[in-house]
Order: sequence, then structure tokens, then C-alpha cells
Amino acid sequence: MKHISILGSTGSIGVQALDVCENLGLSLNALTANRNIKKLEEQIRHCYTVMPADSRPRYAVTADPTLYLDLKGALADLSVQVLAGSDAICEMAALPKNNIVLNAIVGIAGLCPTLAALQAGKELALANKESLVTGGNLVLSAAEKNNVHILPVDSEHSAIFQCVQGLSNPAEVEKIILTASGGPFYGKKQSDLEHVTAEQALKHPNWSMGAKITIDSATLMNKGLELIEACHLFQKKPEDIEIVVQRESIIHSMILCRDGAILAQMGAPDMRVPIQYALTWPKREPLKTPLLSFKQLGRLTFGEADEDAFLCLKACKKAFDMGGLYPCIANGANEAAVAAFLQGKIPFLEIGRTVWGALENLHPAGNGSSLEEILEADHLAREYAGRRFSEVC
Ligand code: NAD
Ligand code: MG
Repeated sequence: MKHISILGSTGSIGVQALDVCENLGLSLNALTANRNIKKLEEQIRHCYTVMPADSRPRYAVTADPTLYLDLKGALADLSVQVLAGSDAICEMAALPKNNIVLNAIVGIAGLCPTLAALQAGKELALANKESLVTGGNLVLSAAEKNNVHILPVDSEHSAIFQCVQGLSNPAEVEKIILTASGGPFYGKKQSDLEHVTAEQALKHPNWSMGAKITIDSATLMNKGLELIEACHLFQKKPEDIEIVVQRESIIHSMILCRDGAILAQMGAPDMRVPIQYALTWPKREPLKTPLLSFKQLGRLTFGEADEDAFLCLKACKKAFDMGGLYPCIANGANEAAVAAFLQGKIPFLEIGRTVWGALENLHPAGNGSSLEEILEADHLAREYAGRRFSEVC
């Protein structure tokens, strides 16, 4: 039986991952969260109700040490061990009993746990794209050195990963066709986006996700982050990746093979499919998911991503070309900007301008070969964003 820890279990991916694990009958080692300890308590209690004793989580962890006593008190009647702090989350990533770790933390906070899991030789089901964007080379070399796989959970990367399973050699992939829904503002020009509110930006047409990735989907930063993620996971250059808008989110991504054949992975939008594939790979297990009816669907709609209206996508390409720590700078500026936008402190378009401005104005020290350099570059980007926002407000 597989033993798993779910990092970020209380989030959108985490909740669906727990559901998948329950259906697969996996044994849970740890569930971790940031500050939503009410939800974490609910999840632990649910596991105690429905799972056999040897499959129930042994650890419940909050990233926030000030919530330790509250969580410990809430779970006092159960035999689960309670821990707190970011180091404890890394410890959970490296638990000797794990065969696999699912990282569903949002943001660069997922980087250290990603490295901890890989360094401990654990298979990694990775939803946290920011780990690869900020620490790509470090993360890939940790996986290689410890001879473990990174199994993509992001739907597009899972689709590409599923498409390449049948090939005999990665060189047979000529091009990756990365699909994008286009988000809630598809077809709009920059001038239409001036007064967009958080409420409007949080309405994704096809997916229900955490707030940060939903805003990233509205700015197309998400597609930019995914482009970088795909370059790392599949060893491609941005020019080998074509971004195509697929409005219905039915085609999750495609590959063009060198003989001209195009392979696609399709299905109704349900993140439990890529989550489960990452956990059962190379096998497939049954899953209750809405099945696609082509007759009902009628047709699929394609289009182009507009980089002039959505500056974040252009900025991510630029960051990857600049290399070194620049993708980390773009990510840090974006994380700060999205948080400020959600708090009503900056307008929508300021997100893209902040990411672009950070790339043009900052000169991080180093090339991203150490964790310290990466965290320092992230800090630099957030400081820059903070300075901009105090001028804008
Ligand atoms: P979310 O905001 O719903 O959940 C995030 C989880 O991370 C929560 O459990 C939260 O408690 C935890 N967390 C937040 N900050 C933390 C910190 N500082 N330390 C430790 N834990 C922390 O986010 P989500 O939508 O589930 O996305 C998670 C990751 O998966 C992101 O990287 C996102 O880009 C990626 N992803 C999400 C989806 C989706 O459908 N939601 C799809 C593809 C990829
Ligand atoms: Mg995605």
C-alpha cells in the first residue's frame, strides 16, 4: 500500500487529493495547512470516521506556530501528533514512511517542502508550480540526484506527461501545445481591464480553484508560470511551446510529434483526474468523474492568447529568457501583487506592471543555484512590489 503525505491538504487541490486518496485506499501519513486549522481538524476527523486505523493520518501540521496550541487542543481526543512551523512541513515531506508526497501548497512557500521531499528520495506529485518556476534547476537536480520522479499534477503538464507515455524517446516530441482557457477576460483589450474588480477576476469560466491561481488565470500569469514549468519538466525552450486558447478546457494540452501526429489528452475539467494519475502512475485506476460527451459538446473553440493585453504572459517569457533568478523575481513580484489586488490595494493592471517592472529594475545576485539566492531574490521582488504599491496607493 502507498503511504502519502498531503502538503496543503486544506486547499482546492488538497481537498480533491484527499478524496482521491480515500477512494484509492491509500494510507495517509501527514496532512498540513497554513492557517485554516478548522478545515484541517475537519479533515482529520473525517479520516478517523471513514478510514481503517492503519490509513489515518499520524500527523496534523499548521505552518503557523501561533496556532499550535489551538490545533493541539482541537485534536486532543485523537491520537494524531500535532506540529507547527515551516520546518515541520519540510519534516512531513521527508517522513521515512512516505513513498510519495503531494505538494499542493500555494506559492514559493512550497519550494522548501519540494526540495525536502526530493532530497529524502520521495516520489513527488507536484501541484505547486511555483517550486519549479523559482527553483527549477535546483529542483530538477535534486530529483535526478536522488533518482525520484516528479509527477505533474497541473492539468496541462499531466496531459503532456500522459501523451508522452507512448513514445520511445523524448526527442520524438517536436513541439508542446499548451492549452489555456483564456480566463474570464478573454477577448478584452488592456483598456477594458482598467477597472476590473477582484470579484470579477475571481470568476473563472471552467475551474474552481484557490484565489491566487484564479487571479493568475485572469492575468494569464498562470499560463506564463506554466510555460516555465513545462520548459523544466519536459526540457523544452519557450519557442518549442505554443500556447493555444481552448475555451472549454476540454483539451488539457497536446504534443506535436516529429512525424506530424498530434496527441491530445482530453476530458471534462476535473482536477481529480491528473491528481489520481500522479498517484497511480504508471497505472490507471477507476475514478468517478463526469464523462465527456462529444455529441453534447458539439464543438471546441480555439483562439490566441493576447500578450499585449495580458502583460504577465509576456513577462514570464522575458523572465525565462533572462534566465537565472529572473523567473523567481517575476514570481515574487506577482505573489505580492496578487495579494495586494485581493486586498483592494492596487488595480488589476498594476499586477502585470509590477511583474514587468521587477524584471526591468532588479538585479538579483547569483544564478539560482542555491536556495539562499532564490529566497533572497524573492525577498527583493517583494520589497520592490511594496515600494511600488506605496506610491500607487
Ligand atoms: P489554495 O489556496 O486553495 O490552497 C493552498 C494550500 O496551501 C492550503 O492548504 C493552504 O493552507 C496551504 N498554504 C498556503 N500558504 C502556506 C504556507 N505559507 N505554508 C504552508 N502551507 C501553506 O491553492 P490551490 O488552488 O489548491 O493551489 C495549490 C497549488 O496547486 C498552487 O501552486 C497552484 O498553482 C497549483 N494548481 C492548482 C490548481 C487548482 O485547480 N486549484 C490547478 C493546477 C495547479
Ligand atoms: Mg494548469
